[in-house]
Amino acid sequence: MKCNRCNESDIKVIESRDVVDDQAIRRRRMCNKCGYRFTTYERIERPQLIIIKRDNSRELFNRQKLLSGIYRACDKTAVTSIQIDNLINKIEQELYDIGESEISSNAVGEIVMKFLSELNEVAYVRFASVYRRFKDIESFEKELNIFKDRQLNT
Ligand SMILES: [Zn+2]
Repeated sequence: MKCNRCNESDIKVIESRDVVDDQAIRRRRMCNKCGYRFTTYERIERPQLIIIKRDNSRELFNRQKLLSGIYRACDKTAVTSIQIDNLINKIEQELYDIGESEISSNAVGEIVMKFLSELNEVAYVRFASVYRRFKDIESFEKELNIFKDRQLNT
């Protein structure tokens, strides 16, 4: 590991402690050359999860993407960033507990909503409304297709 500021590799750990359900270790570090301080997180490496999207395309599960979605839902609520980090860990754990290497984005959405509803009502409603809008478009398209089929058959 090198200092972001001066590229020095002599980095000292100032403080080290377990965070969020003991799933990560947070370390405060300091560059011995320029004194720059920064934080690193050490987590257990897990197998990659594949998310099956609505259009059946697949992408790697992206913790950062999920995080930004939840941050958006929690904007201007009392939810703290530590609570959000905890939430993401719980969601991730639940996803891994399913025991499948591929999980539908629908299933992810349901899990997110379950935990958000326990955490903050406003954040939950926001997330759910974005999520449901997609569902509505999906069911609308289905109905549209049924309608088209009917027209073709008459
Ligand atoms: Zn430095």
